[in-house]
Amino acid sequence: MPELPEVETIRRGLSANILGKKINRVQIKKSNLVRNTDRLFTTVLQNNSFSKIDRIGKLLIFELKKGDKLLLVHLKMTGQLIYSSTDDLLAGGHNWPPVSENLPNKFSHVIFSFSDDSRLFYNDLRQFGYLQLIKKKDRRLIEAKFGIEPGQKNFTWNNFRKIFIDRKTPLKALLLNQKLIAGLGNIYVDEICFRAGLRPDRNADKLKEKELKKIFKATDYIIKKAIAKKGTTFSDYRDVENKKGNFSFYLKVYGRKGEQCFSCQGKIEKIKLAGRGTHFCLNCQK
Ligand SMILES: [Zn+2]
Repeated sequence: MPELPEVETIRRGLSANILGKKINRVQIKKSNLVRNTDRLFTTVLQNNSFSKIDRIGKLLIFELKKGDKLLLVHLKMTGQLIYSSTDDLLAGGHNWPPVSENLPNKFSHVIFSFSDDSRLFYNDLRQFGYLQLIKKKDRRLIEAKFGIEPGQKNFTWNNFRKIFIDRKTPLKALLLNQKLIAGLGNIYVDEICFRAGLRPDRNADKLKEKELKKIFKATDYIIKKAIAKKGTTFSDYRDVENKKGNFSFYLKVYGRKGEQCFSCQGKIEKIKLAGRGTHFCLNCQK
């Protein structure tokens, strides 16, 4: 599942390739992924162009040159955005089906064709993602649904500590809650807890100030480093240039069940927490 660093990597890659290009044609193969009528969606986008791509948490926001609308794209679990031109094949998102397959394929549900014959495919194996046009003036309503975000101005120590007050949930569940902190998912939350030296199943409201400070610093550090490394690739990630993100070389606990901890040589544990596979070291995390 794409998390903040992976979606940011897609945003940067697409920004370098599709801005200002005229959209000649929009094909919708699966209407259920588009949260507008097919007619509105194609009418607004055809003969228009993308002028800027923003991101909040894991949500991409495409600004349009003409009209009063914005396009939202959320990849959720298995969405892919694949940009294809005569020279390039650039992909971001889940890596199944492999991007080297002929395009479009049976998972290509929405296709944008640009005037220079390049195309942007929205592929989605399990179809949890969506595309939606909203009015520009409703952008605030969307943004209000997201919490503070690592790397943004609102990610301050004061804002951060406040979200732990009276939260009777495990630390991991709090960090995964997009309404409180935007953009974190399973991989980075496990890595943040390890770096902070805290067990992900600790009660959020019982953490001491000193411990909160460690989580705050670890969150900032891990997300910045993951963006710099273009995210993480295991079986399911590619960046927009069809390269694997290489943060995977820096993972300390995620995906390492039963392996030796790099710090204490103990064994990495895996439990189920907040509905997710959760990795940690019993010695290093208290
Ligand atoms: Zn350890």
